[in-house]
Amino acid sequence: MTQNTSGSWKIFRAYGIDVYVHWSWFIALAVIYQVAEGDRNPGLFLLLYVTLFGLVVLHEYGHALACRSVGGSVGHIVLWPLGGIAFVQPPPRPSALLWTIAAGPLVNLGLIVVGVAGIMVAAAIGAGEAILGYLNTFVFLNAILFLFNMMPAYPLDGGQILQAVLWYFMPRVKAIYYSSAVGLAFGGLMVAVGLLGYLNPEFGRTLPIMPLWMAILGGYITWEAHRTFSAAQGMMRRQ
Ligand SMILES: [Zn+2]
Repeated sequence: MTQNTSGSWKIFRAYGIDVYVHWSWFIALAVIYQVAEGDRNPGLFLLLYVTLFGLVVLHEYGHALACRSVGGSVGHIVLWPLGGIAFVQPPPRPSALLWTIAAGPLVNLGLIVVGVAGIMVAAAIGAGEAILGYLNTFVFLNAILFLFNMMPAYPLDGGQILQAVLWYFMPRVKAIYYSSAVGLAFGGLMVAVGLLGYLNPEFGRTLPIMPLWMAILGGYITWEAHRTFSAAQGMMRRQ
């Protein structure tokens, strides 16, 4: 794993782990702010953006602390517009990889339970609409982060969970081969769906940020999955 932090700023350190934000995260913030302007209260928008930032950091800490609990090495955490990355290296066992990767989405699942409990309490004590609206969005953001990360598109968490599960039944190189092949297919599909959305005339009236983001993310997944797939293929040929 690379420890390269160029273009990133360290914002804090907790549990012995440095958290960096890549410069492009601020461009993303500005773009999304512009998209939302006009139909959203800037204060509320900022609160939601800070919330999203916090949720991504907590998700990454889930990976990092789980990796440490199984004796793996933990580097830093970086936030960039495609999400967050925790540089973790769990010990080479399927169970260690599975726990390290699953812990991220499990944080979001736990926060959904907390959010739903909060909504029930807020409704019971007759809290204002603003508080209920915020709690709903809190649950919604966690649900999006959970579902998005659980897509079996290597290198997303779901793809790495698939790899860990396959690793129980076959040599690791084969598990990497099959999981990255699935990632390659998903990445290609995301590029296609994103581009089709981008070309849709409906988007002419708004900023096509979501389909564009999906196409870029799909491109990144395709590139990473292809790199890993080729490496696994090469290793299998040499064996
Ligand atoms: Zn994750």
